[in-house]
Amino acid sequence: MRLGIFGGTFDPVHVGHLLLAETCREQCELDAIWFVPAAFPPHKLTRKISSDKDRIEMLQLATAGHPSFQISTVEIDRGGVSYTAETLTHIQQQHPEAELFFLMGADSLAELATWKDPQRICELAIPLVVRRAGSPTPDLAVFNTLASPTRLTEISRYQVEMPVLEISSTDLRERAGHQRSLRYQVPRAVECYIETQRLYRD
Ligand code: ATP
Ligand code: MG
Repeated sequence: MRLGIFGGTFDPVHVGHLLLAETCREQCELDAIWFVPAAFPPHKLTRKISSDKDRIEMLQLATAGHPSFQISTVEIDRGGVSYTAETLTHIQQQHPEAELFFLMGADSLAELATWKDPQRICELAIPLVVRRAGSPTPDLAVFNTLASPTRLTEISRYQVEMPVLEISSTDLRERAGHQRSLRYQVPRAVECYIETQRLYRD
């Protein structure tokens, strides 16, 4: 089984995330994609993030009905600061038969070298780098010191192209805070959830 792991804060999940996942699934012929919401993202420790329950609920609403999309609460269950290397280690132990892919937008790629144990990440999973709005064309040179020669070949083979969608959770939180429209940037059910739960209002 070819399993894509997609980590993020998902506060809230939006159509940029969903299209990224669907594009990777299709172009790289993945059997499943697991969305993995972070408990405490190491790069966002200063900002208040929405509750685990709200972020999971929004992910469930957003992915409902997609036969290959699932949510993994491994990072939330583990608690504490979420490190991708630990998450991939755990998933690999639980599913040794799976071939792991790690989905990431170009902005995450730029930060990869600062993550905990990036070499281990590249050992455990094939990184799938996707272009993102406002970011330069991904510079795969960061992998030169992180990945084995075999892995480097795989990384360049699995480049993913998707239409640029200039959507970010940061902008959506701000929009929601000012009661501006989120329509068509998040699935309708997520939009309604944000509205009824009055998320991002303060
Ligand atoms: P925030 O603004 O709070 O940082 P975000 O929109 O960047 O949120 P994250 O949860 O931080 O979303 O992102 C998870 C992953 O999704 C990252 O790898 C990021 O590169 C990717 N991503 C986010 N938005 C888009 C988008 N519009 N198009 C493509 N990739 C995206
Ligand atoms: Mg981000």
